[in-house]
Amino acid sequence: MTADLSQRIVGFDLWHLELPVVSRRDHGIGSVAGTVEVVVLRLTAEDGTQGYGEAACWSVFTGSPEASLAALDRYICPLALHRPLVEAAGMMEAAARVVAHCTEAKAALETALLDLVGRVAGLPVWALLGGCAQAEIPLSVSLADPDFGADLALLDRLRADGVGIVKLKAGVAGHRFDLERLERLRRDHADIAIRVDYNQGLGPAEAAACLRDVATFRPDFIEQPVAASQFALMRRLREAIDVPLLADESVFGPEDMLRAIAEGICDGVSVKVMKAGGLRRAQSVAQMAAAAGLSAYGGDMFETGLGHLAGAQMIAATPAIGLGCEFYQARYYLAEDILAQPFPIREGRVVVPPGPGLGIAVDTDRLARFSRRTLTREAA
Ligand code: MG
Repeated sequence: MTADLSQRIVGFDLWHLELPVVSRRDHGIGSVAGTVEVVVLRLTAEDGTQGYGEAACWSVFTGSPEASLAALDRYICPLALHRPLVEAAGMMEAAARVVAHCTEAKAALETALLDLVGRVAGLPVWALLGGCAQAEIPLSVSLADPDFGADLALLDRLRADGVGIVKLKAGVAGHRFDLERLERLRRDHADIAIRVDYNQGLGPAEAAACLRDVATFRPDFIEQPVAASQFALMRRLREAIDVPLLADESVFGPEDMLRAIAEGICDGVSVKVMKAGGLRRAQSVAQMAAAAGLSAYGGDMFETGLGHLAGAQMIAATPAIGLGCEFYQARYYLAEDILAQPFPIREGRVVVPPGPGLGIAVDTDRLARFSRRTLTREAA
């Protein structure tokens, strides 16, 4: 049977989810404890095939779940209703213009469109994005618990699972605490790769001295030490240390990447579907970085396995992302994920699923169970 991509989208559903997490996590820009919130979008085509996408928001970083829900319900999803699946790229172009910012909401739309088209066509999302360049992606897990003893216990579990990369979240509880943790990690886990992420936590007066100390531990890279808007300071810090400096909050989409390259603020970039506003724009960020001789890392927000699947499918088709990914929350941070099968991680690597669309189904019972608010819109 030939895939019918001329069929139209006839309805959409939205869930604002609140999902329990297993511990507190402190980052330079804010803390997370108790629950995380995401918005899930489901598009339905004429033949009943459905595609899912996630908007994973963090109010201090990208935006709020309330804004994503409103952007999808009022502005973005109505653009997709009644339109045939062949016009997915046109829908994304319209979504970019109908509401400013709201990159997570736009990411949810493109994820759901690609999942839907892939399921109708019988192709995985990575095939729609150019083919599979990496079927397995090295996994990094972030250490951010204010109780370092709890993180050490997590690290024992990670080692048993074959995880070989950790990212230490720094710049929250003082420079001494950061150095003590690095000393302990280097002493007891000499063979593990370490990255350090400040999430903008350092001020301009202290940043250079802190980074010089941290650089003596030879992390793979140091990520976003200062405020997102501080491009000139990022450039000076990059010149002050001989460890690669990564930009995260400073670079959302291709437009920011262009400026980051022009101003020489970083040696690499954390690429996120949620920041870029979709999978194809995330690919563009990585490809621009590669063209400028910079490295790229597969970052994420506080996502469920659904958000991770979008990122994994994108990275599979993007060889420019060579520093692995951090899609750990579904396995190691959420009390319960929303996928019908566990997000696939084997021996410290994310295994990109080979099936149609995103490759794994969403458990609708869990959507209902964790929903704060559900909206169902049928096509008129
Ligand atoms: Mg980061």
